Amino acid sequence: MKREQKQKVPFLKSVRAVFRTVRVIFRLDWRNIPSFVLSQVFVTIQPFAALFFSARILDALTTGAPWETVLNWVLGAVTCTYGLYLLERLATSVSAVEGIDLYWRLYQEMSRVMMKADYEELEKPEIGLAVERIERATRMFWYGPWEVPGVLMSFAQGLTITLSALALAWPVFTPAPGGGIPWETILMVAFLVVSAVYSIYSETKLYRMKEENITVLAAPLRLQNFLFNYAHVSLAAKDIRLYAMQDRLSGLLEKTDRKVEELSDARAKLRSFSGGVRGALSQAITCLAYLAVGVRALAGLLTVGSIVQVAGAVTQLAEGVRVLVYSVQHIRMQGPHCQEYLDFIGEGDDPNQYRHQKDGTLPVDLSGDWEIVCENVGFRYPGAKEWALRGLNLRLKKGTHYALVGRNGSGKTTFVKLLCRLYDPTEGRILLNGRDVREYRRDELRRLFAVVFQDFQILALPLGQNVAAASHYDEARVKDCLRQAGALEWAEKQPQGLNQPLYEVEEGGVNLSGGEAQKLAIARALYKNAPFVILDEPTAALDPIAESEVYTRFRSMVDQKGALYISHRLSSCRFCDEIAVFEEGKLVQLGSHEALLGQEEGAYARLWHAQAQWYQA
Ligand code: ADP
Repeated sequence: MKREQKQKVPFLKSVRAVFRTVRVIFRLDWRNIPSFVLSQVFVTIQPFAALFFSARILDALTTGAPWETVLNWVLGAVTCTYGLYLLERLATSVSAVEGIDLYWRLYQEMSRVMMKADYEELEKPEIGLAVERIERATRMFWYGPWEVPGVLMSFAQGLTITLSALALAWPVFTPAPGGGIPWETILMVAFLVVSAVYSIYSETKLYRMKEENITVLAAPLRLQNFLFNYAHVSLAAKDIRLYAMQDRLSGLLEKTDRKVEELSDARAKLRSFSGGVRGALSQAITCLAYLAVGVRALAGLLTVGSIVQVAGAVTQLAEGVRVLVYSVQHIRMQGPHCQEYLDFIGEGDDPNQYRHQKDGTLPVDLSGDWEIVCENVGFRYPGAKEWALRGLNLRLKKGTHYALVGRNGSGKTTFVKLLCRLYDPTEGRILLNGRDVREYRRDELRRLFAVVFQDFQILALPLGQNVAAASHYDEARVKDCLRQAGALEWAEKQPQGLNQPLYEVEEGGVNLSGGEAQKLAIARALYKNAPFVILDEPTAALDPIAESEVYTRFRSMVDQKGALYISHRLSSCRFCDEIAVFEEGKLVQLGSHEALLGQEEGAYARLWHAQAQWYQA
């Protein structure tokens, strides 16, 4: 689904999205909620407690009350205001720590969904752009689920302040007897309304600008993230230096920066202008409030204490209305962002929007014989016009070793991805023991395969955990697999043995050479002890001697299993039982090395002679 441009979300839908987000927040981080709510309650009632006690003290003083009464009010004021202040600080200190926690939990929820999403979903640009928009909305504009507790509390605060201020300032809303039409009060209410309407108008305008900015900036900022990573990751450092790409990359980074700055300037101007207008309106409201209080005081309707209370309350009233309008606006603004987040984590209207889990239900029996049959399999990458693979018919079975050979781009890796259900065929089907692989549970099916891809990843985790792909493992078996992969000698030299952290992400971590990493990837595939082992050019970074050792050892280890090798070095493949030759997405030959060499005009013989020529020169 295209979501380049976010649709307009109606107010009620926004409110619903915000409340659905509250549900997610409660699920992820309910411990944070009580301290956060309490801290906000204490902040809100503090000024009113101060106003109330000041008025009582003044009244006691001006009416000549006994000194004990004055003292009691003073003690009450001190205890109440300090007590509220201390309680608020206590609650804030707890929720400040937990607030960061909430941010990470909501973020981790996104990672969890991304890790579970179908592989092919991750390749779609929409996913990258959605992540970018969610991140950007948070970091640039404070929109998103992490802001929901704050916005809802603002609403509760605004409501509390408005109602409390109305209660304390009530005398100015009642006409002074004999004073005729209370123009000052009418004007004050009119200004309050104008101020509220203007706030709605200016916040909406600012919001539209921000929304537009997020959409306009999503793609350039995504590019900027990549470029920024290139500049900071040592992997790209050599190429950037040797091909003198620093200026080009800096230029691209600056271009996006300038765009960000330009848009932010426009927003700052609007914010400053509307802040000025709101300030002027608020001053007018305060002046009118004092006028109204003065008129009633002169008429003898207010005591000295009440004058202070009412004047203070009217100022609070303006603030309360501002907070209320702001928070209602923000609930509307957060709505679409909450909706996007909910859609992303699968709790929106369409739970499968970003994870089309096409899972089956059958278990896979790994104990007995197995056979995989490809029937007229064809595959086109999402959005691609060309077929990466077409008309493939092939039978793979236990105990047989296969080699896939062919030029770059002939479809070999694509075939492996289809076998392990990283993708489903666009046409035709793949059967395991006579049943379409789509009928099996995906996690069960994947236990059938141990694959070392060309672009495998070794993770920045301790060595043993990498090999076992688990935090608890059988040390002896890990060492055996490392030995089979030719990496045990290297592993034993590491200061922390199997606990050795890999890569310099962690202190004391070691970096790996291409060859070392490949050996670890092979050891990981062996540790999985799967019935079908697939090596996709796994030895490209190994020297010929290491490669030949790996292959010899590997063959004996996987002897009784199924194995599939993809390699450009045909000499490594010649010992396989069956060699499948791919050309432009089609299987063009299948047979043993000898049989294929016998077909003099065949693709395999051409490739073989071309390679032999290099060694004979
Ligand atoms: P091989 O493993 O034989 O080198 P591949 O299976 O990787 O070939 O690629 C087969 C074809 O599919 C090539 O034309 C390649 O450009 C295309 N291709 C590979 N991966 C993708 C992808 N993720 N998206 C689009 N096209 C792809």
